[in-house]
Order: sequence, then C-alpha cells, then structure tokens
Amino acid sequence: AAYQRADLRELIESTLTMLRRKIGPDVAVKTDFDADLPPVPVYAAELNQVWTNLIVNALYAMGGEGTLTVRTARENDHALVEIGDTGVGIPEENLTRIFTPFFTTKPVGQGTGLGLDISWRIVADRHGGDIRVESLPGDTRFQVLLPLTEPDL
Ligand code: ADP
Ligand code: MG
Repeated sequence: AAYQRADLRELIESTLTMLRRKIGPDVAVKTDFDADLPPVPVYAAELNQVWTNLIVNALYAMGGEGTLTVRTARENDHALVEIGDTGVGIPEENLTRIFTPFFTTKPVGQGTGLGLDISWRIVADRHGGDIRVESLPGDTRFQVLLPLTEPDL
C-alpha cells in the first residue's frame, strides 16, 4: 500500500459528518483548520479510525454536554491535529497508562481499552508520527503529529 496525499481538513470533516448523530445537540463543535497546511502523506482510512477514537472518547468524557474542539496547525515539519474536550479530564496517574492495551476506566461492556492503543500504533508505526496528551478537568487535548514528508518506516 502507498501513502495518499490528503487534506487533513477533508479527512476530519468527513469523520465529523459520520459522527454527527453521536455528537448530540448539547455538544458544540468548534473547528479551526490551518488553510496553509500542505497535504499530508496518509493512510486515510486508518487515520479516520484515529479521529473517530479520539472524538468518541471526548464525547464520552463530556457526558453529552460541552465543547469539542478540532484544530489543525503546522508545527515545523509536522502537521498537528488537536482534538480537545471540556470533559472530566484524565487523572495524572492515568496519563501514562491510557495507551496500554485494555486499559479502560469505562464500565464493563462499555469500553475495550483498545482505542488509544490502536490509535497510537496507526500514528506512530504506520505514519511515523506521535500523540501527545495534556489534561486538566474541563480541558483535555490530544495532539496528533504527522510528518509532512513520507516517512521511511
Ligand atoms: P476505551 O475508550 O475503550 O476505554 P481507549 O483506549 O479509547 O479505551 O481509552 C482508554 C482510557 O483513556 C479511557 O477509558 C479513559 O479513562 C481515558 N480517556 C481517553 N480519552 C479521554 C478523554 N478525552 N477524556 C478523559 N479520559 C479519556
Ligand atoms: Mg475509546
């Protein structure tokens, strides 16, 4: 398989459209796309899964009410996609564990604990990128960094 050069805005907007019914009336969606961001080498279907995982987690953390923020920007030789929410946040002691397979704080049957593990592998192993997370109650941000030039993996 080969990378496709894609406009991140288009990828993310199609994910948001797909999730429209899950988002609900009491979540405001705010987007801010960097118009100067060049196309990024991606496996589009896999990255769609990453945005979906991050957005579904954000919606869960907000319990149906709050603000979902999606932002793109350029950071040196990387594209940055930030998905933010105003939900409960991630306690500091969990920050190092959330990417571990099967780690979940959701009730049995509600979460597999695989979403962030899979997302991490898609971003790092398939795209040569990175995921950062910062969280305070009411302000959680997942930042996905993707190289602007095709990685040699
Ligand atoms: P799952 O969603 O099945 O629990 P994930 O790997 O997607 O598995 O997430 C693991 C855990 O990370 C979640 O159970 C939750 O504790 C935490 N988490 C992930 N995203 C957020 C978020 N936006 N706000 C608060 N907690 C989060
Ligand atoms: Mg999840």
